[in-house]
Amino acid sequence: MVKKIVLGLMVICFSLFHLNAQAVVILQYHHVSDSTPKSTSVTPAQFAEQMQYLADNHFTVMPLADAVDALKNNTAIASNSIVITFDDGYESIITNAAPILASHQFPFTVFISPAPIIAGYEGMMSWQDINTLIEQGATIANHSWGHEHLIRRLPKETVEQWHDRVESNILATEAELLKQTGQNAKMFAYPYGEYTAQLEAILEKHGFVGFGQQSGAAGEYSSITALPRFPVANAYADLSSLTVKFSSLPMPVLKQNISEPVLTSGKFRPKLVITLDTTDLYPHQLMCFIQGQGAKKPIWIEEDTFSIQAPADMAPGRSRYNCTVPSKTRTGYYWFSQMWIRPKDDGKWPQE
Ligand SMILES: [Zn+2]
Repeated sequence: MVKKIVLGLMVICFSLFHLNAQAVVILQYHHVSDSTPKSTSVTPAQFAEQMQYLADNHFTVMPLADAVDALKNNTAIASNSIVITFDDGYESIITNAAPILASHQFPFTVFISPAPIIAGYEGMMSWQDINTLIEQGATIANHSWGHEHLIRRLPKETVEQWHDRVESNILATEAELLKQTGQNAKMFAYPYGEYTAQLEAILEKHGFVGFGQQSGAAGEYSSITALPRFPVANAYADLSSLTVKFSSLPMPVLKQNISEPVLTSGKFRPKLVITLDTTDLYPHQLMCFIQGQGAKKPIWIEEDTFSIQAPADMAPGRSRYNCTVPSKTRTGYYWFSQMWIRPKDDGKWPQE
């Protein structure tokens, strides 16, 4: 009898622990404007609608640094937590997004590259604009010096030379941010969302946190140097598709065979093998989506382990595998995304 009660209590505690498991959804915006490229824009009307939705539906919009602290220290995060981020520092952030954010008192983070600001490129914010955002409570963070494809080596560059160049780039950017804004949050968003294990190691060495552009909620299962964010733009800016993402949960990935995004020649159909904590999900409901190739059901190798592989080669450039499965106990889908980065057949990178 006592044993049964103790067991019952343990089950309740375990369930509660699971219900309170860490989850935070980080949104990634670029432009908030009617006149900028659609692929990286939401309209001011869409942005206002999205922020109103978060306010009306009891989401907690938290500063990115607070989410990072909780993820690092494995402490609780309020349920329905959202973080708002912008990449690149475009002008429409201060003209269109900031007033809407201020009206809700929502905190936000802007990842910037100093080079285009120093050069005074049209359409970018100035340091003065950026400091105005800081007065509104914004956090400014690191997006590399000149928005380089950091994973790419220059012609004839050795691995060591690449390492030193990229390390200097990230540290010089952080120093410039400190000089211009008084902030050095040690939060780094990979330009183009491109990362490798070697690049993650540089961030880790210097105590930085890294953010990608693969989708999914962040949580206790996420790598602190490759945290997922949901890009919001174009076809992904529609409120009906976004609400599913707002309430998404981090897929409980216990083990995964490949986490390196860069695909090497002849291995353009990566076979991903993933072990999940299946406590709160029905494995047979898990569905995957291979970018450019459509939906694909995974193959379950063991009760808690599945594999997923593209039937055809992934296209050159960036692409993803996404997998989702509904939670048994919570409203929302567990969400997983793996980024792949493939060179062209001649070994060169696509032009951008
Ligand atoms: Zn960017």
